[in-house]
Amino acid sequence: MLTPLLAPPLCWSCARTAPPGLALCHDCSRGLRRLPPEPVTLAGVPCFAPVAYEGPARDLVRALKFRAALAVAGAMAAAIVAGAPPGFLAGAALVPVPLSRRRERRRGFNQAHALSLALARRTGAEVVPCLRRRAGHGTQVGRDRSERSRALRGSMTASEAPADAVIVDDVVTTGATLAAAAEALRCAGCTGIRAVAYARTGGR
Ligand SMILES: [Zn+2]
Repeated sequence: MLTPLLAPPLCWSCARTAPPGLALCHDCSRGLRRLPPEPVTLAGVPCFAPVAYEGPARDLVRALKFRAALAVAGAMAAAIVAGAPPGFLAGAALVPVPLSRRRERRRGFNQAHALSLALARRTGAEVVPCLRRRAGHGTQVGRDRSERSRALRGSMTASEAPADAVIVDDVVTTGATLAAAAEALRCAGCTGIRAVAYARTGGR
C-alpha cells in the first residue's frame, strides 16, 4: 500500500494537504456554512441540503462536475446522510436528476448519478435513474428565474418511477429543475417525493 504515501490527499478547495479520507482540509471544512436541518419546500418538494452553495462547498461541486473527482461524491454523500432529518432518506429510491444526453456524453458521467451511488453505499437505498431530459429543451444559461422555470416545464419524462422517491442533485438553486423532475415523477405514478442536494443557494 504505497499509494497513500506517494499521493497525500489534497484539499479540493485550497489544494493544501487534507486529512486522509477527507475532501477538505480542516480550515475549509470550518469555512462551510451549514444550513438548518429542517427541509425547505421548493416547487412543492421538501428539500434538504447540508451546506450553503458558497466558498469551499462551491469548489467541491465544481470538482465533482468538471474534474470528474468521484471521490468527492463520497464526501458530499456523507454530509447529506449525517445532516438529513431522521427518516428523510428512509424507504425511498434515489432518483438522480438527469443531464441532457449531449452534456452527459461530453462530461462522461452525470454528477447527480455519482452522488446517488455514493448515498446508496451509505444508506442501502436503491438507485433508480428513471428520469430523462426531453430533447429540445435548451440550456438554462442567461435565463432569469421565471423564464427558466417556464423553459424547464415538461422538460423531463420518467419511466418505471418508484412509489417513493428522493430526487438527488449536487446543487439546488431556484427549484425549477426539481419542479420538472417532480412533475415527471408524479405523471409516472410516484406519490412520495422529496429531494436532497449537497448544497443550496438562498441562505436560510
Ligand atoms: Zn482547504
